[in-house]
Amino acid sequence: MANYSLLIDYDYCTGCHSCEIACQQEHGYPAGTNGIVVREYEYEAGGRVRIDYLPFFTPHCDLCKDRRTREPIPACVKHCQAACMEFGPTKQLAAKMGDRNRLVLFTHNPGR
Ligand code: SF4
Ligand code: SF4
Repeated sequence: MANYSLLIDYDYCTGCHSCEIACQQEHGYPAGTNGIVVREYEYEAGGRVRIDYLPFFTPHCDLCKDRRTREPIPACVKHCQAACMEFGPTKQLAAKMGDRNRLVLFTHNPGR
């Protein structure tokens, strides 16, 4: 199992895209390159139109390994406007998920 992961409670994601900007600024990525991308998913439920925002990670995400030599948490987590992202040991985050719904656990194995 990966050592560290990111846990996202996308029930609270507002689609503000701050995480994308924080990642780009942290890494100096050019436009169109990013470690995290937020997608919008529109659907109908109970006769109402609903929108979910789903952040997902790209191969450019390195879990901020350089930044974490200076600061404990990745840039996207620090700047998340809804505080719906959490960084930590994979086992610890997986245990937090319990039987809750609408969570995503992004795992990362350095060197793979
Ligand atoms: S953990 Fe770091 S590299 Fe990965 S998406 Fe967040 S800011 Fe970008
Ligand atoms: S910063 Fe947080 S609330 Fe905003 S889009 Fe990213 S995950 Fe969602």
